[in-house]
Amino acid sequence: MKPLFDAPLAIVDLETTGAHPAWDRVTEIAVLEVEGGEIVSEWSTLVNPGTSIPPAIQALTGITNDMVADAPDFDELAEGLFERLQGRVFVAHNARFDYGFLRHAFERAGLRFHARTLCTVKLSRRLYPGHARHNLDSLIERHQLRCDARHRALGDARAVWHFLQVAAEERGAEQLQSMVQQLSRLPALPAHIERATVDAIPESPGVYLFYGENDVPLYVGKSVAMRSRVLQHFSADVHSPREAQIAREIRRIEWRRSCGELGALLREAALVKELLPVFNRQLRRANDLCGFSFASNKLKFIEKEDINSQTISHLCGVFRSRRAAMDALRGLADEHRLCLRTLGFEQGAKRGKGACFRHQIKRCAGVCAGAENLHVHQARAAAALTGLKTSAWPWRGPIGIVEEDEEREAAEVHVVDNWCLLGTANSEDAVGDLLATRSRVRFDLDHYKILARHLSAGRARVVELGARLPAGAH
Ligand SMILES: [Zn+2]
Repeated sequence: MKPLFDAPLAIVDLETTGAHPAWDRVTEIAVLEVEGGEIVSEWSTLVNPGTSIPPAIQALTGITNDMVADAPDFDELAEGLFERLQGRVFVAHNARFDYGFLRHAFERAGLRFHARTLCTVKLSRRLYPGHARHNLDSLIERHQLRCDARHRALGDARAVWHFLQVAAEERGAEQLQSMVQQLSRLPALPAHIERATVDAIPESPGVYLFYGENDVPLYVGKSVAMRSRVLQHFSADVHSPREAQIAREIRRIEWRRSCGELGALLREAALVKELLPVFNRQLRRANDLCGFSFASNKLKFIEKEDINSQTISHLCGVFRSRRAAMDALRGLADEHRLCLRTLGFEQGAKRGKGACFRHQIKRCAGVCAGAENLHVHQARAAAALTGLKTSAWPWRGPIGIVEEDEEREAAEVHVVDNWCLLGTANSEDAVGDLLATRSRVRFDLDHYKILARHLSAGRARVVELGARLPAGAH
């Protein structure tokens, strides 16, 4: 048989304790080394999985706990196996499974395994599109493949090799070779993404953007190590349908470097809102925020423009919808037996005077029925509502959070006032320009959460900027 690749092949089959690469383990491995169209080595070994093999799997493979009790464990085999597979195209029936499983096992042993892969299920589908089934049993039957030990690693690996030989004979070496070239791209990079594109992404903090057909934004993500994170989206052992769909639809990648993690988080939040990528489900809908204010004994519902850097620290709760705000208020009223009628938040037909319905079912202590003094009730309400308050702004004025990228000798300053992000500056002048906008900046719940988490972690480098404000603006 004519060689399928310039590179030699490793036809691999694994038996395992189950289907999940993270918590199941290898019980048997076989590797057939193929060079120039000939088998040059057959190797297989049982592996002690360090855990019990489920009875159903013992019955399927015939590999019992007793058989693996004295076998080497994967760690002992890892280095030798790694070398055996090095520089070869990884061929397996359902390669995604065996490759993903081995990558996990190698990683636990401290080795990073990468290989070009060829999946013979996919190959069979391309070469024999008229058939519905392409599992190994179907192939063995259809092509009368030799298999002396089905569900044992070496037996299955030999059947896969026999399939390649039969396919070359039936479909011709040329066609087989061109199919194989199409199928065996470097591991798991999406069809439209060049290796060089990914290699050019720096392993530094920043955001990356995936675009699809017609430049539709598909996804925005952030990471402190962009290249690795991007590769993770495409890696063979990630099986989520969403990642698979992204990999199918992606046509182009863009990235923007930032000096640190905070910059990446803030930029991600901003880009998601601006571009509304198809696959970002969080961080959307920033504009319908609402909350409550409690002043002069009156509880008021506050929304839209009224939530800004000036009002935010007086606000009780910030919610993404009126319904979420009302749910929180009702929960609070139940917990403290407050009267929603008295607070002016009784809804619909129940609205009225006198004892409220919630008092009758004992959820209101009865200010409405004269059972509680109004001042006492309002004081209790005020105390309970502070539980909904956003964290008080702990500085006297605006601050800058400094992030430095030593490698590039660059720095960014995120200018924040009362939990509102004014912007990110690269120079002293730019800081001043941002400070001048502070009365117009609206509150953003995502920014608030990101900033509160980052600042409470205690690692942030904070510079107080109050002194830079024009006189009288404090
Ligand atoms: Zn009441």
